[in-house]
Amino acid sequence: MFNKIKPNVNSSAAQKIVDIAKGIEGSIDPNMAECQQNDSLTSAAKKYDNQEVSVEPIGDAFPINHADGSEDVYQSAIGTIEEDGFDAIAFYKSFRFINTDPAPGYWGIFYIKNRVQTLVSEMSFDTGIQKNICLDTVLRFLYGHEIYHYKVDALCLQKEATSNNLIYRPYRNYVNQLSVTDWFEESVANYYGLSNLNSFFDRTTGFSYDCSSELKEYIKNLISLSPGAYSLGLDQSVLLKLGPRGHLANQITIGKNSISPTSALSIQLFEDVIYKQLLLDGFKDFTGDSFLVNDLALKNCPVNFISWFRNGSVVPSLTTIPLREMKEGFIKNYLNGKLDRVTDHEYYIIDNGETIKLPNSHDKDIRIYEFKNILDKAGIKKIDFWQQRNLTNRWKKNVPRSKFDGS
Ligand SMILES: [Zn+2]
Repeated sequence: MFNKIKPNVNSSAAQKIVDIAKGIEGSIDPNMAECQQNDSLTSAAKKYDNQEVSVEPIGDAFPINHADGSEDVYQSAIGTIEEDGFDAIAFYKSFRFINTDPAPGYWGIFYIKNRVQTLVSEMSFDTGIQKNICLDTVLRFLYGHEIYHYKVDALCLQKEATSNNLIYRPYRNYVNQLSVTDWFEESVANYYGLSNLNSFFDRTTGFSYDCSSELKEYIKNLISLSPGAYSLGLDQSVLLKLGPRGHLANQITIGKNSISPTSALSIQLFEDVIYKQLLLDGFKDFTGDSFLVNDLALKNCPVNFISWFRNGSVVPSLTTIPLREMKEGFIKNYLNGKLDRVTDHEYYIIDNGETIKLPNSHDKDIRIYEFKNILDKAGIKKIDFWQQRNLTNRWKKNVPRSKFDGS
């Protein structure tokens, strides 16, 4: 039996959080209500066009895309994660910025509908596991990741109430100026998401969950090919020592310090408290987290689908592979392809003896069926393609691949 993929969200509880935050921030700095800059978003979420946005509450069933569309250009959610991390698939928007873009009037967790659907298709294709099971895993992981961003936000609000200092906005503003290698909140968020895939049975609530080890491994591979600090967080021992969690506590404290200088001792104490509270579960059955007051319980964070449209089509689109890269990089460099013959197409013989027919170059990017054929000949999965693309710095380093064993 699967656990639910979302809590039953109570909209008056979600609105109450907005009002509490307004009260606390307003009493510290009356100008806060007018501030329109949304610092809770990562750069991946900021990229989105806010024209023609549609937000829908997440129901009990998620529409899985069954259309094959093999003539279409191959668009990859894995490739998008490689470029921008998991926040390009789902993102968190703070209750403090409810009236700003994207989706004014809404806050919380947003699953980007077409990107989730694409990721589920790629995962199911690679593993042969049913789409609805892949979907369950993806949504559970994403929920764990994004609810962690809410937890940091809510913890900061609690500290603001007692310290009379703004903490979250200066912290986010500070981190947004750093490069992706220093976004430690993302490392811990990925770790939190992975923890959400741990098997459990809860006698009190009757919830049980058991994730397939193959799918968990798949998610770990996605984390490892993510950029910068997103790729950390796979190793618990790194997190428990002074790894990303320690750095995160430090960054939150730096934000506080930049607004109002405080004594070194109180900074140290504050950092210790934040550090202790940055992990700990509570998300499994959506009951909350022991460090958060009831009003700020994890289950009160809303969860939505979001889609963008431009001229009737869904945007933003996903990462594609230029035909030129397939030929010059993947086939010639990585697979050590040698031109065999030219008819109306070019044919290459690759390292395992297979022959690859190169698509005509009237398209800029490779199509779904062409991509699938080439990967079949090369004997690798989509996730391997993206992982190797990352490891070889787009087919330039450590190429051709080491001796192909044909297995
Ligand atoms: Zn994130």
